[in-house]
Amino acid sequence: MKAIRIVRPKEPLEIQELETPKPQGSQVLVKVQSSGVCHSDIQLWDGGYRGPGGQFLKVTDRGIKYPLTPGHEVAGTIDSLGEDAKRFFIKNEKVVIYPWIGEGLCPACRGGEDNLCDKPRSLGVYRDGGYAEYVLVPNYRYIVKLDEDMDIDASATLSCSGLTAYRAIKNANLKPDDNVVIVGGTGGLGLMAIQLAKALTGAKVIAIGLHNNKLQAARKCGADAVVNSNKEDPTKAIMELTDKMGADAVIDFVNDSKTVEADMQFLRRRARLVLVGLFGGEVNLNLINIPARAYKLIGIDNGSIIDFIELISLASRRIVKPVVSNQFKLDQATEALTLLREGKIIGRSVINP
Ligand SMILES: [Zn+2]
Ligand SMILES: [Zn+2]
Repeated sequence: MKAIRIVRPKEPLEIQELETPKPQGSQVLVKVQSSGVCHSDIQLWDGGYRGPGGQFLKVTDRGIKYPLTPGHEVAGTIDSLGEDAKRFFIKNEKVVIYPWIGEGLCPACRGGEDNLCDKPRSLGVYRDGGYAEYVLVPNYRYIVKLDEDMDIDASATLSCSGLTAYRAIKNANLKPDDNVVIVGGTGGLGLMAIQLAKALTGAKVIAIGLHNNKLQAARKCGADAVVNSNKEDPTKAIMELTDKMGADAVIDFVNDSKTVEADMQFLRRRARLVLVGLFGGEVNLNLINIPARAYKLIGIDNGSIIDFIELISLASRRIVKPVVSNQFKLDQATEALTLLREGKIIGRSVINP
């Protein structure tokens, strides 16, 4: 089978011919139809993250090994099944994969939250993922059936951008008379979070982004108001839009020094600040404000398999519709990642092997 892989950080990805895996036991081989291109794939490609004090945090220090086939948002069809998986699926069934696989025995895994495992084994991160013609899934329980009429590209993006946005909205604990500010509201996660907030909470949704054409997409997804932080001061704009009270919750899909510093300026008392993005860096915190204003700081790292099943149910009933804007072939993966890095993708792009 063909796979496009990161062989060395920062170098163009390489097409490689690999042996097609044969599933055994509980394993399942999925023929990849669509694999989403995620911001965290860029960090794998760069070889690390921006840490505090200008440090570079290498992914190899977290146990990631190259060469690696990235791709954790994967949908496709069942190709073949190990003996123990045969009673659950049949060949050619349309499925999506839950990629946040754990080692199985830590407290998080035992509680159904593989995504928070002490020793993660995630697909496309710690093991080969979906930038390939086939992907081997270690256990049938990470595979979820899709309805025949569900769009395969949109379904693929549920596994990370959809799931993370869903978990973030759940943790923001929004009430119908709350307002929520979505920072980075024009990327794949932001647009999904806007739809979920509208569909599930009744809260007023304000999206902050950098480009008018992308903020237009946020409006289409249901944002009640949009703020272009290139053109206006976000703090001033949010205070005006919230009758000078500030935001009940902020979900930051960028999460760098600049955005979080700004977020802290427009939190209402009791606000939840939900940090999701992986841009990284550091901030100075006014510590007295945390207890005195009763803020909650919450970090989100994907969602559980239960969250995933709930989200697929919402998507199957068209309550949320992931925005997929670009499709690439396997050998265009480097181009897909480059366009994402340059901020040229609205919503999500996918690779169709
Ligand atoms: Zn675990
Ligand atoms: Zn992702």
